Order: sequence, then structure tokens, then C-alpha cells
Amino acid sequence: MIEFRNEPLSNFQDAAVRTQMERALRRVETLLGRHYPLVLSGKAVDTADRMVSLNPGQTDQVVGTAAKGTPQQVDEAVEAGWKAFPAWSRLSAEARAGYLFQAAAELRRRKFEFAAWMVYEVGKNWAEADADVAEAIDFLEYYGREAIRLGRGVSLVPYAGEDNRMTYIPLGVGVIIAPWNFPLAILVGMSSAALVAGNPVIIKPSSQAPVVAAKWVELLRDIGIPDGVAQYLPGSGGVLGDALVDHPGVRFVNFTGSKEVGLRIVQRAAVPTPGCRWIKRVVAEMGGKDGIVVDETADLDAAVKGILVSAFGYQGQKCSAGSRAIVVRPVYEEVVERLRDGLKQWTVGKPVDNAPVGPVIDESAYRKILHYMEIGREEGRCIAGGGPAEGPGYYLQPTIFADVDPKARIAQEEIFGPVLAVIPTDNFEHAVEVYNDTEYGLTGSLYTRRRDRVEYVRERMHCGNLYINRKCTGALVGVHPFGGFNMSGTDSKAGGPDYLLLFTQAKAVSEVL
Ligand code: NAP
Repeated sequence: MIEFRNEPLSNFQDAAVRTQMERALRRVETLLGRHYPLVLSGKAVDTADRMVSLNPGQTDQVVGTAAKGTPQQVDEAVEAGWKAFPAWSRLSAEARAGYLFQAAAELRRRKFEFAAWMVYEVGKNWAEADADVAEAIDFLEYYGREAIRLGRGVSLVPYAGEDNRMTYIPLGVGVIIAPWNFPLAILVGMSSAALVAGNPVIIKPSSQAPVVAAKWVELLRDIGIPDGVAQYLPGSGGVLGDALVDHPGVRFVNFTGSKEVGLRIVQRAAVPTPGCRWIKRVVAEMGGKDGIVVDETADLDAAVKGILVSAFGYQGQKCSAGSRAIVVRPVYEEVVERLRDGLKQWTVGKPVDNAPVGPVIDESAYRKILHYMEIGREEGRCIAGGGPAEGPGYYLQPTIFADVDPKARIAQEEIFGPVLAVIPTDNFEHAVEVYNDTEYGLTGSLYTRRRDRVEYVRERMHCGNLYINRKCTGALVGVHPFGGFNMSGTDSKAGGPDYLLLFTQAKAVSEVL
């Protein structure tokens, strides 16, 4: 098998590539407004109630509607999952990996089409949408190979007179609860890892992105994934969430989303409901209040560029978004000035036109972020943006607050929008203390030219993904295994060699010879 390598990103400077994307956008536009029923045990099942997915950048445009599952359909999905389990779990790792490789090939072939769906449904610009598809392909290729590696088992210490083996076997039926911000990559990663390890999954997508999820499940059906192995159960998290998590037949929950929902899942899953015969496995990857530390020796051009990309890429709606810039005083004013200048290139516009800054996901996010902008005016000095932006959707100005206290709300709470807090610190050690002083611990960066400081932060910046002299977003599958500490989650390290183990249990068999 060819060694795993990351999927290359599309170069939209190239006119031919641009034309392909424009074509895909036009084609997908003709497909907007369709309806997506549930997929239970391989069959389309509709519901009386529907959810509507709007284009956040053009709110009079309906991307699609989706059925809304009910708790009764949770029961049906769990039952169908267990029916599919014996055959699916007994397939060889190679056979299951084969499905992932086929899915990857199909996604590669339809790369621009999937990117276009994300432009419409979640307001990504072309590069962000393209990177999302590339990451999804990476997960499939990487986890397929990982499954084959794990399928070989591990070697144990020889012991005279016994044959001892340990193998990794699947857990059972699991639930995938996904966020909207990487509606393809995260959903594909979370579901394909569990699937390839031998587990049927029930996919509960975000209510903000049910169409991209439906397309993924459609693709799985197209490549012949058996009925009941990957079921599609959109619906409101408030209605379906507890029913899925509490269900005695659910063996594990793979969740990515907010801290509040993640903690609720961890808590509920710990209490066995009648008939439940296991301790439910919960993987919960949650929010962040990520930060970039800049010292007085740093290459300031690189640092400012890195801060802006990390803070404003996809409108700051990444768990890894660098929403804090923590800068030592000797270069503080200069960094603030350069950030203000650099931000001028971050113009707001429509995702279909590939604007650098697009809309935020929905009205509730729009209002919440505006509220944080009001708080920011009291907690800091607004040096750019600070309010709504023109446009036919949920557009906000990218916003920078300087002189923010490390304990301020905008320096502590996840805003999940285009708002950057710049925090001055007395010296480098103080900057690291400030960096560590939140309840989260997902990503962080340090810009420095000093080797001793690189070594210092290796140990002392407490986060799951630490970067030196580069932005704090854009983790690559296999290269930067991803997951956070503290309230950022269970540190599952998606896209790393430990991830698949989370969806297996190890069985040791000893035979006396
Ligand atoms: P969210 O509101 O927590 O929703 C995530 C998922 O949970 C959605 O499918 C949602 O369904 C569902 N849900 C809602 N209430 C539930 C309940 N009571 N029980 C079970 N599920 C429930 O998060 P989001 O707004 O989609 O995503 C943004 C958050 O995700 C941010 O905090 C971000 O940092 C985090 N995130 C973390 C990572 C990471 O790797 N650490 C990656 C991406 C995003 P509905 O949509 O129907 O409400």
C-alpha cells in the first residue's frame, strides 16, 4: 500500500482550478432546496417535522431541508445498528478499510462539489471549504491504514507453554454527534474511525449542517456500505441528544461540539439506564480559548500574519481559533499597529465570491458575538471593527480589542466568532502564565527566535496542540494529531495513531499448549 500522505490543497490562483470551483458552485446551486429524509437501516424515512438549512451568507436561500428524527426513531436506529453489527464487526480490517479507501477516492473525484456544498451551507470561502474536503480525505486514508495496522494485533512477551494473543475488537453500536464548523471533515473523521474499527454508527449531524452530512451518508450508500452500518438521524440536539446518549443499547458516544453539551453528555453517559450492560465510552472534543504568545525576539511579520489567520480564518469559528494574542510589552504597541494595518486585507463578503471573511453561522451566533463585542468595548480598546457588516446574511466586522486584561471575559470565554483580544504582558514568562490561565487547553503558538524559550514552552504551555513560529489552526491529519486538555475535551488526538483504539476493546486470549 502507498504510504499515507496528506491530500494537496487546491490552488485557486490557477485559472483552471478556479473554473472548476465556479462550475461546481453553479451546479450545486441548481440542487439547493431539496429534502433529505432520515436513513434508517438503509431506507429513507421521512418525518412530519422538518428542519430548514439556510445559507448563512444569503439568508433567503434554502440549502435544503432535512427530516427531524424522534426518540422513537432512536430506538429503531439502535436496533438496526445491532442487527448490522455481527456481519460488519466480523469483516476483516482490510475489507472495512477498503470502504474507506473507496469513499476517499469518491470524495477526491467530487472534491469541488463537496466544497461547494460547504460554501452554501456553512459560509466557508473556497480555500476553507477545499481544506475541509482535503482533511476528510486524509481521515479516510489515514484511518483505513490504521485499521489494517491494528488488525494485526500486537506482539506480547513470549511465555513458555502458552500461546498468548491480544487483538482489538469493536465495541458495538455508537453515536456520532457532530458540530457544524467542519461539517464534512469532522463528521467523516468521527464516523469513519468508528466504522473502520467495526462499529455501526448512528450519525446525528448538527442542525446547522444536515445537508453536507446527508451527502456524506449518500456517498457511503453509493459505495455499498451495508444497511444499518451508517444511519443518518438528523434532528434537534435538544430532543434527540438525551435519547441517544441515555439509550441502553448505545455502546459509545463520539462527540465534538461545545463544552456545555460535551459535559452534559459525559455526565449522562456515566449513569447506566435500565438494561445497559456496559460503561459507555465517551469521546468528547470541545471548545477552546486558544492563544498566540509573541516575545520581543519574534519575527513580527510572521507573528502578525499568524495571529490574523488564526483569529479570523473562517470568521474565527474554529475550535483552534487564536482568539488571544499575548504580547510582551517591548513589542506590544508595534504588534497592535501591525494587526490593525494587516486586518485591512480581511475584507467581508460572500462565500460564493470567495471573500476572505464571510458570515457567521446563524442568527443566534450573530447576536451572541455582537453581545461579546459590546462587552469588549468595556473590557478593551477597540482598534478595528466592532459591529455588524453589510451583506445579505450574518456578516460581522472582524474585530480587535487591545489592552485586554487576562481575566476579562473576552480573554476567558470562547466567543467562536471574528473577535481577537490582544493582551499585553510584562515579560515572556508572564505571557506563558497568561496563556495557561483559562479553563481550556486546545491549541497555542509561540513566536520567538530564542531556542531556550522553545524548550521552555514545550513543557510549560499546557495544551494539546502547541505550535512554534506558526499559526495555531490548520492541524494536518497524521502530522498534528489533534485534541485538547482540560475543558477542551478528552484529548482523543484525532488523526493520530491512538485514535482508533478509542473505538475498540482489546481482548487477550491465552491457550495452554
Ligand atoms: P454544540 O452546540 O455543542 O453542538 C454540537 C452537536 O451537539 C450538534 O449536533 C448538536 O445538535 C448536538 N447537541 C445539542 N444539544 C445536545 C444534547 N443535549 N445532547 C446531545 N447532543 C446535543 O456545538 P456547535 O455549535 O455545533 O459547534 C461549536 C463548538 O464545537 C465550539 O465550542 C467549538 O470549539 C467546538 N468544536 C470543537 C472541536 C474540537 O476538536 N475540540 C472541533 C470543532 C468544534 P443541534 O445542532 O441539533 O443542536
